[in-house]
Amino acid sequence: MSLEAIAERLHKVRHRIATAALLAGRDPGSIELIAVSKTFPAAYIRAAFAAGQRHFGENYAQEAAAKIASLNDLNGIVWHFIGPIQGNKTRIISEYFHWVHSVDRPKVAERLSLQRPPGTPALKVCLQVNVSGESTKSGALPEETGALMKTVESFRNLELLGLMTIPEMTQSATSQREQFKALRALRDELRRADLPLSTLSMGMSNDLESAVMEGATMLRVGRAIFGERLQANGR
Ligand SMILES: *Cc1c(COP(=O)(O)O)cnc(C)c1O
Repeated sequence: MSLEAIAERLHKVRHRIATAALLAGRDPGSIELIAVSKTFPAAYIRAAFAAGQRHFGENYAQEAAAKIASLNDLNGIVWHFIGPIQGNKTRIISEYFHWVHSVDRPKVAERLSLQRPPGTPALKVCLQVNVSGESTKSGALPEETGALMKTVESFRNLELLGLMTIPEMTQSATSQREQFKALRALRDELRRADLPLSTLSMGMSNDLESAVMEGATMLRVGRAIFGERLQANGR
């Protein structure tokens, strides 16, 4: 992928978001695009940053830490951890990231909070929910999410902002929307005046329009911006 191509593809993704938002009667400015840069070199991130992109998502703690360190001259960049969290990686994640979207169990939340470096703002957190109930997938089950929410709320270095999901892969817009609708319904059920859970992190390269229609406030888009990932560790 040439660096010019990244700016062009980013532009196309922004256009897709704006078009979907218009259709949904939503303000495109209420939807944050996270460029998922896992497996791609730091130069790709610089190219996207130069084209105005500020939010980036990474999945692998060690790979991300190296890139984040090498990009620390980019003022205003915001890093989102979106991958499965191994217990022995919480320290790196809590030290390097602004957001974590994939909190799915109390132990991980506790460690992220304890390991947040003193003097840094609270780590912004979404709870990952497995709305499709696939057994291979990470994420709390919908019926576990209320209890997890109460636990996460109690940790002082975490700021609980919403819910995230990775739906079951499907080309059907109807079933994409049903899954996103389920996340939103769960959020509506769990939210309180003092805990609005206003972030809905849902929608990727293949289903971002469906997610926008169902109220996504953060989209996590990789391939549509940076191209196909190598199979080896691309997922
Ligand atoms: C890789 C990944 C994405 C981006 O997926 P694309 O299909 O490349 O847009 C979004 N969310 C999560 C959690 C991911 O792991």
